[in-house]
Amino acid sequence: MYQSNKQKLERVVPDVELRYKAELAVEINRLKSERNAVILGHNYMEPALYYSIPDYVGDSLELSRKASQTDKDVIVFCGVRFMAETAKILNPTKTVLLPAKRAGCSLAESITAADVRVLRKKFPGVPVVTYVNTYADVKAESDICCTSGNAVAVVNSLHADTIIFLPDEYLAGNVARETGKHIIFPTRTEGGLQADTSLDYQMVGWHGRCEVHEKFTVKDIRDVRAQFPEVSILAHPECSPEVTAAADFSGSTGAMIKYVQESQAPQYLLLTECAMGDNIAAANPEKDMLRLCSVRCPHMNEITLEDTLKALQAFQYVIEVPEEIRVRAYRAVERMIAIG
Ligand code: SF4
Repeated sequence: MYQSNKQKLERVVPDVELRYKAELAVEINRLKSERNAVILGHNYMEPALYYSIPDYVGDSLELSRKASQTDKDVIVFCGVRFMAETAKILNPTKTVLLPAKRAGCSLAESITAADVRVLRKKFPGVPVVTYVNTYADVKAESDICCTSGNAVAVVNSLHADTIIFLPDEYLAGNVARETGKHIIFPTRTEGGLQADTSLDYQMVGWHGRCEVHEKFTVKDIRDVRAQFPEVSILAHPECSPEVTAAADFSGSTGAMIKYVQESQAPQYLLLTECAMGDNIAAANPEKDMLRLCSVRCPHMNEITLEDTLKALQAFQYVIEVPEEIRVRAYRAVERMIAIG
């Protein structure tokens, strides 16, 4: 394990840490087969974890598919809570473990099932598209889910004059721009939810934001370009529409990885969780990756090798979704997966 990680990671992880983490990974992999478990690793996992214990790595959509297809008894999700919940929604007979109890998400916490019910009342008959970065009870109130990778395809598949798109304000803004729809954002007031419906609109959004991607600015892009004029800048669609418009490319984490692999630029900068730059640099040593690592996701960084080992040893933390919620959420997630 140490030798194989060293080959890939010696440029991004100090040797002393590689040795220590290789020992943990060996024990995790031993327990993984003893427990008949599969480990799914999100693209934001730190390199020593990402390259040593997951059976599959990828973005939310890719990992949802793997979760639905596995025949293992246990799914260990190295990602955040809403991802582990999605695995449980898709494959309810399996034991799903999330290694860190506090691995949440600012987007998932920005909206409740009651909020969706209020929106439905205010906009009767309008279909609800919900980003997968939400909890199961919110998915259960939705017609269909989407990821950042398939949001435009999901919206177009509905052939609806108007749609409600929740909860990411910036992803909604980016999708609205791409699909040519005008978007309005209701605001909470003492009298309830208010929206200016006298405007021409085809999308209704929500004021949720990713606490990582909202921090990147057009000024960051200008500053980096001033220092590295030929850099190729990739922005996740959870960044503001101004930032994605100023970048060279915008796409899901999976799409960003593919873009770097298939293009030739002197340097790349990813406007997303910093660990992904390390993971791409490790797999593509010929690519020069710049990083803005002062912006980190505290939730994704809760997942460590130590906690993953404890998860397998103590069978923690088990993710449960009440069956009545799961069945309704399943319809919305399954409908999304069918679109691809
Ligand atoms: S990066 Fe943003 S959207 Fe992803 S888990 Fe962290 S807070 Fe949530």
